[in-house]
Amino acid sequence: MTNLELFEQDLKYIWHPCTQMKDHEFLPLIPIKEAKGVYLYDFDNNQYIDAISSWWVNIFGHNNSYINQKIKEQLDKLEHIIFAGFTHKPAIDLAQRLIDITAASLQKLFFADNGSSAIEVSLKMSYHYFLNKGVKKSLFLSLTNSYHGETIGALSVGDVDLYKKTYKPLLINNIQTPVPKDKTIEAANEALEALENILKKEHKNIAAFIVEPLIQGAGNMHMYHPFYLKGARELTKKYGVHLILDEIMTGFGRTGTMFAYEQAEIEPDFLCLSKGLTAGYLPLSVVLTTNEVYSAFYCDYNEHKAFLHSHSYTGNPLACSAALASLDLFEKESIIEKNRTTASYMAKELKRFEELDRVENIRQTGMVAAFDIKGYEPSKRIGLKVYQYGLKNGVLLRPLGNTIYFMPPYVITKEELEYIFKVAYEAIEQLPAN
Ligand SMILES: *Cc1c(COP(=O)(O)O)cnc(C)c1O
Repeated sequence: MTNLELFEQDLKYIWHPCTQMKDHEFLPLIPIKEAKGVYLYDFDNNQYIDAISSWWVNIFGHNNSYINQKIKEQLDKLEHIIFAGFTHKPAIDLAQRLIDITAASLQKLFFADNGSSAIEVSLKMSYHYFLNKGVKKSLFLSLTNSYHGETIGALSVGDVDLYKKTYKPLLINNIQTPVPKDKTIEAANEALEALENILKKEHKNIAAFIVEPLIQGAGNMHMYHPFYLKGARELTKKYGVHLILDEIMTGFGRTGTMFAYEQAEIEPDFLCLSKGLTAGYLPLSVVLTTNEVYSAFYCDYNEHKAFLHSHSYTGNPLACSAALASLDLFEKESIIEKNRTTASYMAKELKRFEELDRVENIRQTGMVAAFDIKGYEPSKRIGLKVYQYGLKNGVLLRPLGNTIYFMPPYVITKEELEYIFKVAYEAIEQLPAN
């Protein structure tokens, strides 16, 4: 089989995500035959460094021998069972370990199977909590430029027009408060003032404030100061509004700490995790919450207060075993400390981009580095040119609009990092005149 043969077969049958399929008239799909570490290999024997962790999920490289082994061991025991009325060891072990490593007030864990469904769970739980307490709050508050997934509820609390605009008439009630405009304390303070004004006016209607801590991923890797989170926690407490932290992208070491909220020393009412949870192996997500929330649903059946949300693949044992293996690796290999060194290499490489006139807003938080290309209309699709240049030179970069970002698996070496930054640098240099 060749790349071309598989590409043509694929197009006969498959509708790909986040894609205008007509683009594939000029842009070939790349069939991947196998992968190891940070490298992907196609059917024409080309290799690509996965500089974006395969959409932000892969943290320990592809085909990791330890994680492979743990999933195989689980596969020979139990692949999946109904999770209502039944349970299994991988789910119990994983819940216990996640509760141990997250904020002290998070004491209960609910399983789902992808990021968006974790968001749906947290929104429904928050609304339902207040309802069970006799208060009807049917509004959610989120940040401008936020992204929380693609299902109707998750899309409603997001604010990226590209994904949201078309579906506006279908969405649930949501209002937005401005995200801090940059990483300074001043910007955080300014945004906190706006937040307090909204909460003062609307807190009676708002169940929860949902936030991507420190980095807004799909919102072009926009970054802000932990001080904002600290203030947001104080204000949501003061006004009786839940704080939902969407750490689907930022969780598991991405921002320099195991969870981004640690940098603000706060404890949320809900914590949503997915993506890196299974080290990029299998779909799984969880929502952690407090005993306070849990107990508002705990009563005799006929009081009808139970949380009846469910997904068929809730708590899949194979996915749980991948997540457990991933947590083993964090412990055994001091990943958070190692990432500090890797992040410092990234900072050094990133600095060179200051030389380029077309580059602005150079920024970094932990294992995410980004900059914007200026001076081009969105219709020029300049990010796509960088993407194509990267592929031709063996690097998978997948810009968000005019934002180029680097979010590699944690196992990337200094030399591999230098290579992806070199290719990105050349990609900017060879851009057509605007
Ligand atoms: C990816 C992402 C989601 C949605 O997760 P899916 O598994 O793609 O549904 C939600 N929130 C954030 C911050 C994300 O990055």
